[in-house]
Amino acid sequence: MKYALVILSTLFFACGAPAEPVDAEVSADTPSAPETEELTIHPVLHGSLVLEQEGTKVFVDPYGGPELYEPFGQPNVVLITHPHGDHLNEETLKGIDLSKAELIAPQAVVDKMSQEITFAKVTVVGNGETLSTKGVKVNAVPMYNLPETEDSRHPKGWGNGYILTMSGRRIYISGDTEDTEEMRKLKDIDVAFVCMNLPYTMGIDQAASAVAEFKPRVVYPYHYRNGDGTLSDVEQFKVMVNEKTGGTEVRLVNWYPEKG
Ligand code: ZN
Ligand code: ZN
Repeated sequence: MKYALVILSTLFFACGAPAEPVDAEVSADTPSAPETEELTIHPVLHGSLVLEQEGTKVFVDPYGGPELYEPFGQPNVVLITHPHGDHLNEETLKGIDLSKAELIAPQAVVDKMSQEITFAKVTVVGNGETLSTKGVKVNAVPMYNLPETEDSRHPKGWGNGYILTMSGRRIYISGDTEDTEEMRKLKDIDVAFVCMNLPYTMGIDQAASAVAEFKPRVVYPYHYRNGDGTLSDVEQFKVMVNEKTGGTEVRLVNWYPEKG
């Protein structure tokens, strides 16, 4: 099954679509990495990814056009972090078959979303809340800019980062955030997706400092296209994390295939 997915994704990659699925494996001697159930994670674009475990497909922040999601079929769960257009992207959602999908999102996303977009079910979650659906445990966590000001792009409580438990692994998806105390205190994360772009979220130095503190087993930089169109230096991020800790493996994949 995994082999087939790799081939499929490689074909799409050749057409300018996303990279191959990333390796969700962590060291087999970690207690949270059972070998019985398979989890496949596909980076799609920028802050979007698709996670698949047996019988359940989870689309996170679908963005970039519905054609990028065609290889994955119908989602069972769609997770949206916050209302910004690179996360709540109506053009993309309109082209995806959402008839089996449960939307899980903060209230601000549900308030902003057009009535034209209909899901099988809508579940609002706020920071600190946890739910389980379709074999996936979802824990919503804060994402916000520092310092906390009234004109913040991402005020605390408006959006959600997520910790998903799938196939026995804990996966952290940061959303748009800086190196908050809540991020620094995360525990027992197997695979983390951490944003790093300016001026919207944080720089690589902040991201590396936070990662070295919460020490996920594996971290993938994602959401790293800056406001001026350049990409953050994720190679340097990797060097910085490696200097600070031996406890985290940094894996780099291309989230921006159009930039080669
Ligand atoms: Zn944002
Ligand atoms: Zn964003």
